[in-house]
Amino acid sequence: MLNSNWEVIYANSVMENMVDLPLSKYYRKKLWDLFSVDDYNNFFQHCLRAMETQETVEFQGALHKKGVMMDLTIVPSEQGITIIAKDITWYMDQFERLRKSENRFSIITNHIKEACWVCSPETGELVFLSDSFTQIYGVDKEIILNDPPRLFDLIDKEYLDQVKEAALIMTQKEHQVEFTITTPDGESKWIRMKGFPAEDDGKQYVVGIDEEITKIKEMTLLEEKSRQLSTITQMAAGVAHEIKNPLTAIKGFLQIGAVNPDLRDSYHDIILDEVNRIESIVQDFMMLSKPKSSVQLEYVNLDAIISYVSRLLDPDISNKEVMIHYTCDSRLNGFYCEPKRLKQILINLVSNAMDALDEDGEVQIEAVLQNDELIISVIDNGHGLSEQELTKLGEPFYTTKEKGTGLGIMVTKKMIDDLDGRLNYQSSKNEGTCVTVRLPFRT
Ligand code: ADP
Ligand code: MG
Repeated sequence: MLNSNWEVIYANSVMENMVDLPLSKYYRKKLWDLFSVDDYNNFFQHCLRAMETQETVEFQGALHKKGVMMDLTIVPSEQGITIIAKDITWYMDQFERLRKSENRFSIITNHIKEACWVCSPETGELVFLSDSFTQIYGVDKEIILNDPPRLFDLIDKEYLDQVKEAALIMTQKEHQVEFTITTPDGESKWIRMKGFPAEDDGKQYVVGIDEEITKIKEMTLLEEKSRQLSTITQMAAGVAHEIKNPLTAIKGFLQIGAVNPDLRDSYHDIILDEVNRIESIVQDFMMLSKPKSSVQLEYVNLDAIISYVSRLLDPDISNKEVMIHYTCDSRLNGFYCEPKRLKQILINLVSNAMDALDEDGEVQIEAVLQNDELIISVIDNGHGLSEQELTKLGEPFYTTKEKGTGLGIMVTKKMIDDLDGRLNYQSSKNEGTCVTVRLPFRT
């Protein structure tokens, strides 16, 4: 406390500690004898104002020598002024640290090309959105910050449900989704959004990163195209080669037959064999060129399909002593699939299995239902495949059989793809092979 003559008349011990002076010993000394006016000009001016206007003055000041930050309140009274000082050094330090950390955070988030965001799933509010958002989405981030659902206007309709569903999963665990947007300028872009749940101060948030992947998508499409193109070239050469051999044979026998009519009959079977071979290559190729859109789902009965397949392959069965067993999940009455492709898939797999068997072998066909998937396994105890042979499966014209085309697995794979299924081989040399086909179980 100062009297109207600027003399110190009282100071408590906290004040003494804060200013680091035994003020109680200096009672009746003038304030400017204790603190230099030059150093604390600002402070003296505030005191003067309080003294003259009789108004309470509040301000923040620093004790330079001690590095103490203070919140000061000067309350005037009849006798002079009361100075109340609060040490806020710690708060200021924390505040500064927070400011710096926020600065660093925004340096990172606003300078990387991905858009970062934090939202509260409870309120649907966007708590944070980095500057890159504007660049990626072509919409000022402030617009979306004020009205988050407007983000959905940018997402192309066919992906909207997928994105909303993904956003829901992100509240539980890390998840990502890829979708296309159309910016207000009409530009079409691919976006990959990754998000994960996070907790802060007892509140749940989702933190996410959006990245533009248009270039990456275009590249992979291009790569796929060029891979397709090179397979086509390779296959065209292969087909020509495969068909040329039987054609040469047929031509040769026909020429011999033309000059030796009595030999014609004996060549008849060989010529028919070669023609059949060409036919089966051509059939396989026709299957390959059928687009996925030609799939026509029908309600099918797996029992009926399998018995059709075993009857068709019957001549082979009687040739060798092969047993075909069939077991089927009782829940598997009927489902939607394309019978043509399904039959062809099974014919290819079962005939490969039978080819792999010695004199007396067994082929086991099992059908089970698992998590909305129909799993058909074709298991044989034939000669099996080595690891190296396994990697070759599905390559066009890879065959170890004298009369093989080496197209069966490739065509099978393509048909399974058409039906949204998957094909898997497990095999060990001299023990046998298990081929599994997984198909969506549509009812
Ligand atoms: P192809 O039957 O005309 O030879 P595929 O594409 O059907 O052509 O099969 C390619 C090759 O894969 C076969 O030649 C055979 O060596 C091998 N293979 C396929 N299935 C089996 C199986 N179940 N057991 C052993 N080898 C197999
Ligand atoms: Mg085959």
